[in-house]
Amino acid sequence: MTSWLLRNARLFDGVDGNLRTGAWSVLVDGGRLAWIGPDEAAPNADVVRDAAGRTVMPGLINAHVHLANDGAADLAAQVRDDSTTTAALRASANALISLRAGITTVKDCGASDNVVIDLGRAIDAGVVPGPHVVAAGRVITMTGGHGYFMGVEADGVDAVRAAVRGELKRGAKFIKAMATGGVLTSGVKPTQTALLREELAVIVEEAHHAGRRVSTHAIGREGIENAILAGVDTIEHGFHLDEELFALAIERGTFLVPTLSAVGGIVTEGEAGGTPAWIVDKAGTEMERSRTMFRAAVQAGMHIAAGTDSGTPFNPHDGLVDELIEMVQIGLTPTRALLSATRDGAVNADVLDVTGTLEVGKSADLLVVDGDPTADITALKSIMFVAKGGELYRDELPERELVGAHTTGAHA
Ligand SMILES: [Zn+2]
Repeated sequence: MTSWLLRNARLFDGVDGNLRTGAWSVLVDGGRLAWIGPDEAAPNADVVRDAAGRTVMPGLINAHVHLANDGAADLAAQVRDDSTTTAALRASANALISLRAGITTVKDCGASDNVVIDLGRAIDAGVVPGPHVVAAGRVITMTGGHGYFMGVEADGVDAVRAAVRGELKRGAKFIKAMATGGVLTSGVKPTQTALLREELAVIVEEAHHAGRRVSTHAIGREGIENAILAGVDTIEHGFHLDEELFALAIERGTFLVPTLSAVGGIVTEGEAGGTPAWIVDKAGTEMERSRTMFRAAVQAGMHIAAGTDSGTPFNPHDGLVDELIEMVQIGLTPTRALLSATRDGAVNADVLDVTGTLEVGKSADLLVVDGDPTADITALKSIMFVAKGGELYRDELPERELVGAHTTGAHA
């Protein structure tokens, strides 16, 4: 495999949140980060690329996606109408869209059958291109509860225990459980309590026994409280979090994935876009609440991982940068926003040993951004170069190949 050197860039390695100015180089060999340091000390490489005036940073992590869905107006209808084959093809296409947008890792929070677990395996085997996929498999939900059409319906501690064990057997990398109702499922209110605290506690027990983390969809206050007290690792959406629950979550290390994009697109595109009126109504009710909650969460110091809920209505798989921009508009600093989609996203997805920061030995998942995203988050709109595992998926740097002082040419 060809080694290559990116040189002359500012470095945001995601380790401590600092931007290293001046000229830095990153050597990639065998798909891994082989050396990182000041430009003048850079080793030789087969190919050298100049990134002067630009910033090199870790590939982005989207902590909440649904790869099998593409942002169609009615997600539940798409899940019901798609065959397993169609869903798999859709998921594969969405994986490539994510990767080309600079998203080198995704956490898939629910799909029917084994579609996204199998896609992750196919990507790892080099069958199709895509980001690292950390997939939950099917969601675990109460009978008739949120997402039942892409889930395992289970009631009572014995049934949810069996459901967790079943998803782990099928290859789930984490468990997704529904603590409340949601926007996209007919007949349930987003704020209603769903799986009970004792059911959630058993789900956490079983997942943690297997070394897997638990994400809970949780919008209403009582469901969020049940989830935190049951010991879940991350709250998805969390729109009705309040000061008391922030304190509880921080004490227990529980993450928040705020998914601001999830309600935004539905409210903006509305019924005119073909989304059923009952969904638009529910999204409208939660929209303002989601922004107010997020502002307070930032001030409280919650652990935040960035996630979009891509695949839900009008919520595309290349939309993570827009989510980060909105997070900054509401009050997160650009540096914290970057960390929420790199290092902290990797902690949330339990992949920090592989990716999420630029450190020697990790997978060469990196971006080159025109400008300085720690000063202006909208610089992420100008991603010029995307590598995952050392393979290039976007390359708009000016010189294709530069043979210079740092190139031996011996392996070219
Ligand atoms: Zn979701």
